[in-house]
Amino acid sequence: MRQQALTGALLLVLLAGKAVAAELSLSEKLGLLAAAYPDAIERIDGSGLVLRDGGPPVVIDDGRKKSHAEKLAAADIEDSLSQIYPLGACAPSPAVDFDPGRIRSEALLKRLYGGSAAAVRRDLVTVDWFGQRLPVARRHGTAAALKAVAAELSHHAALKRYLSPSAGTFNWRPIAGATTLSVHSFGAAIDLDTGFADYWRWTAKGKGAQGYRNRYPLAIVEIFEKHGFIWGGRWYHFDTMHFEYRPEMIAIARAAGADACGR
Ligand SMILES: [Zn+2]
Repeated sequence: MRQQALTGALLLVLLAGKAVAAELSLSEKLGLLAAAYPDAIERIDGSGLVLRDGGPPVVIDDGRKKSHAEKLAAADIEDSLSQIYPLGACAPSPAVDFDPGRIRSEALLKRLYGGSAAAVRRDLVTVDWFGQRLPVARRHGTAAALKAVAAELSHHAALKRYLSPSAGTFNWRPIAGATTLSVHSFGAAIDLDTGFADYWRWTAKGKGAQGYRNRYPLAIVEIFEKHGFIWGGRWYHFDTMHFEYRPEMIAIARAAGADACGR
């Protein structure tokens, strides 16, 4: 019966042309979040998300109803998991305000990677990116994951011109036009060669996906996603050269069967 209801829901979702398949509860998503950072997250209980650093629990749900803009500016953990990231070798023009992974809990990122530039910098290591030495966070396997991406991409000679030189990794700074910190601040993001980049703020009047375009081969996206990175090319506020390490978003995508090709 439950199976039938689920199949029915899936069919409706497919008919509506949406990429997201199964619904996941908040507690299922939180379980996947905790499992994605086992070295840092101890447990989830009534007090919030309890980390192994001994600090206060991180708030999961502040109880505030927020607009999309408010979520982008001040997300709690629940907000950050509210949109499910879709996987795969398709890049449909994102729906209005569909920004899966762009809604982030800055409180959690600071606890995971460090609360200041100096704290983050202490745990950076060097990753060889096609001959370029890039500073990347060691914590949570971020640098190891980027090394695995580089190793796999290196088997595809035709892709190299899109990848190198990288426009940067670690850079403690706010997102352009916002006060929230970019994931580059935590050494957990990489920008590819800017020569193929498209960015929502550069398109006509900066009106989100109305100017959506992607010039990076989707084979690159698939390899990054396989190793726990999400792609800024899936966002209404798109940033196609940008990838960031968000293994919880990839785990939730897989559990939900969220397919960017709408299969
Ligand atoms: Zn970036």
